[in-house]
Amino acid sequence: MTARGEVSNARATLPIRADLAGRRPYGAPQLQVPVRLNTNENPYPPSTALIDDITHAVAAAAAGLNRYPDRDVVALRAALAGYLGHGLTSAHVWVANGSNEIIQQLLEAFGGPGRSALGFEPSYSMHPMIAQTTATRWIPAERTDDFRVDGAGAVAAIRRHEPDVVFLTSPNNPTGTATPLEVIDAVCAAAPGIVAVDEAYAEFARDQAATALALLPAYPRLVVIRTMSKAFALAGARIGYVAADPALVEALQLVRLPYHLSAVTQAVGLAALRHTSELLSSVAAIRAERDRLITDLRSIGLQAADSDTNFVLFGRFADRHAVWQALLNRGVLIRETGPPHWLRVTVGTEAETATFLSEITALTAGRADVMLP
Ligand SMILES: *Cc1c(COP(=O)(O)O)cnc(C)c1O
Repeated sequence: MTARGEVSNARATLPIRADLAGRRPYGAPQLQVPVRLNTNENPYPPSTALIDDITHAVAAAAAGLNRYPDRDVVALRAALAGYLGHGLTSAHVWVANGSNEIIQQLLEAFGGPGRSALGFEPSYSMHPMIAQTTATRWIPAERTDDFRVDGAGAVAAIRRHEPDVVFLTSPNNPTGTATPLEVIDAVCAAAPGIVAVDEAYAEFARDQAATALALLPAYPRLVVIRTMSKAFALAGARIGYVAADPALVEALQLVRLPYHLSAVTQAVGLAALRHTSELLSSVAAIRAERDRLITDLRSIGLQAADSDTNFVLFGRFADRHAVWQALLNRGVLIRETGPPHWLRVTVGTEAETATFLSEITALTAGRADVMLP
């Protein structure tokens, strides 16, 4: 892979799996610009108190690094179960290096050659991408024009395709749309296999009661995926987790690599969870900033989708790449993703969001040619 993303001549001659040949790795640009609003990170860095606690925890872990870490990650699983509530215990929780590794383990255990996974698009691009690398056939199903998962349509698609795994991202990335619990319930009732509800943005939802955790007692094949990368402001630590029936958690351990989660990562996760209320204190501010941003985008004549996440999908642009590039030229990096003609912006600090707003206003004000109706 070259810097610009083409497949190099050298790679093209490698004896790579036929189904991977010519593909590109995941690649949201990581550019050093003043305002980075492209990968849905939490804009607030850890506090001094949290940095100190992490430093001490890592120092203690360092003293034992000659030994392998706890293979079963028991302490961190128990702490995460305590955070989730809903009567969950460490036996209901599994942890990995980011929820992307959770998704990989799920597809290794329940997908794979001869099996299929279905998702409602537009949604998170890593679901089909990890399906591909685990040789799981991907079945795209549709969302409505306003980005919802229609209950009857979802049930019909599941009955028609009988997928081994159903992915339902709620709140959804890149649209911001939450799916009501009744629809998730109907999907679980119809699905012949695993239902994976990806709740990476759960803490940002307007209706906090809408979590699929509430459905776990009713559905032993339901898994609820969470992450510390977004609300917990810990993307750099790579900690994702899942809540499910204990038998399902045991099944995931069949495919995990031995000692997959380093002692350092486990120590960082435990230290961070001791600061849960501090870490989550930014969530309320981000939600308020998000709602303001939506109102402001609409007030300058743009469309902005309702959002239960820390980002906003907005548009619609005749040439979205030109708008993305013009913003980048002005030092504001957002994401060119989602349905055609839309762009996605992560909610940053108040100052970052204000900069984005003034730049997008300058780019679009009085420019009927830039926008689509
Ligand atoms: C950001 C995101 C994740 C998080 O991935 P990590 O590997 O935990 O950082 C998972 N699912 C969705 C839908 C996301 O947008």
